[in-house]
Amino acid sequence: MKELFLPPELSCEIGEIYGSMVTVYDEVARELPLTCAGCPDNCCDSYFLHHTYSEWAYLWEGIRALDDDRLDRIMQRARDYVARSRELIARGERPQLMCPLNDSGLCGLYSHRLMICRTHGVPATLTRPDGQLLRFPGCFRCQEIVADSYPAEADAPAMDRTVLYQRLAQLETRFLADRRGRLPKIKLTIAEMIVHGPPKDISANRK
Ligand code: SF4
Ligand code: SF4
Repeated sequence: MKELFLPPELSCEIGEIYGSMVTVYDEVARELPLTCAGCPDNCCDSYFLHHTYSEWAYLWEGIRALDDDRLDRIMQRARDYVARSRELIARGERPQLMCPLNDSGLCGLYSHRLMICRTHGVPATLTRPDGQLLRFPGCFRCQEIVADSYPAEADAPAMDRTVLYQRLAQLETRFLADRRGRLPKIKLTIAEMIVHGPPKDISANRK
């Protein structure tokens, strides 16, 4: 099966989009103010699913640069995560397991972490293609700050995710190009993205 590599220009562009997410996030976090320092929670154990081949390929650019020992440790943790999460889901429970990339509380692949890792925390808005405006309240710590400091939730600053998501969606379209209709839609945890290896063009075998 042919591996899906990001062309250099798309790799550079996804890095820029991720950088913009961090800039906008930091502006809102400063204004609130919200910081993860000293938080009793660690959101790296949240059960998030990811949907883009381009983010998967970019994650693997980072994984490939790891030394063998670290990669072995991460791979083992990812396998454990996948097995345990399947057990929990089979019992009807939502998994709450530490991401295999987390080392002693910190992200071990910070520069290649995914979109949701860069946007989760502060309040956010999103205008859907049909024009409907969605608002997300942010993490529990953020909600406490908002409740204490603002007359209403809507008065708090929020990160507008619309353009950032659009840019990522456009990049995904360019990355997949004519493979788009042939590849299955994905819904994967980071652990699954690690265990499965880099994304591959499974449709190439059917030609
Ligand atoms: S995003 Fe919020 S809940 Fe998560 S670690 Fe940061 S402050 Fe804590
Ligand atoms: S990739 Fe990094 S920031 Fe994202 S959940 Fe895993 S350890 Fe946390």
